[in-house]
Amino acid sequence: MQKILGEVLEENRELAKKGRVASYIPALAKANPDHLGICIAEIDGNTYKAGDCDVKFTIQSISKVIALMLALMDNGEKVFEKVGREGTEDPFNTLYKLDLPYIDKPANPMINAGAIATTAQIKGDKAGRILELIRNITGNSSIDYSREVYLSEKETGEKNKAIAHLMKARGILEGDPEEALDHYFKQCSIEVTACDLAKLGAFLANGCKGLPSYGKIDRKTLSRNLLAIMTIGGMYNVSGAYAAEVGVPSKSGVGGGIMAAVSGRMGIGIFSPPLDENGHSVAGYGIMKSLSYRLDLSIF
Ligand code: GLN
Repeated sequence: MQKILGEVLEENRELAKKGRVASYIPALAKANPDHLGICIAEIDGNTYKAGDCDVKFTIQSISKVIALMLALMDNGEKVFEKVGREGTEDPFNTLYKLDLPYIDKPANPMINAGAIATTAQIKGDKAGRILELIRNITGNSSIDYSREVYLSEKETGEKNKAIAHLMKARGILEGDPEEALDHYFKQCSIEVTACDLAKLGAFLANGCKGLPSYGKIDRKTLSRNLLAIMTIGGMYNVSGAYAAEVGVPSKSGVGGGIMAAVSGRMGIGIFSPPLDENGHSVAGYGIMKSLSYRLDLSIF
């Protein structure tokens, strides 16, 4: 396994040159485009690493999976009254369909609108509880927010603000849209490493086993929802192509991370900041294709 990881890393290193580090959140533009790391955490506890696995970066959209987990634990499948479970051909930060008369909720919890509508349904200190759950699952109590990225996104996130206020106007969002946004920006700014992502993936791959309580949902229903929604929407508008090419429930973030869960086998965490036009790590996508082929990971 160690040898395969090293080879796959080198085979895909050049791909990063085809991408661009996110700059629409100004603080993200400082990322080093040459960083590249892969970590695999098998569910029986073995861990394999290659490259820059201890470099911290912001979790960004990968936090949407943890937010959905908490919203489901707090409310059960009632969550889906305010956010759908369907795929979409639109990019992650789209908002125009939210104003169409026949649309009553965002397509799924993986796009920004759906994620804001999901986080809004978490009880209490939403972002604080997301951070706590990430610390518990990874066993890494040193994980924290990047205040710099949080403030950078809060200052510049006009499109997310438009999405939240439009959803309030349409009755999708209950409560204060600014409060939901603040928690959403905070959850996106949580700093992790590729190995933290691999551990999150391993938890999902192991049927979410190990939490003291699952609240208003049973563990299997929780696990099935998370993996299914990652499959149909984790890679946004290219989730279908990704399902055919990789075939592993995954979630990407504009910080350059990809988290993947191979049921019954392993979690995968990848970090490489340059992104493609859809907001996915270019080298990360390539590495997932290589790993899927070499380790026979596709569920299809
Ligand atoms: N914080 C980012 C945003 O809302 C998350 C997007 C992403 O990672 N795709 O724009």
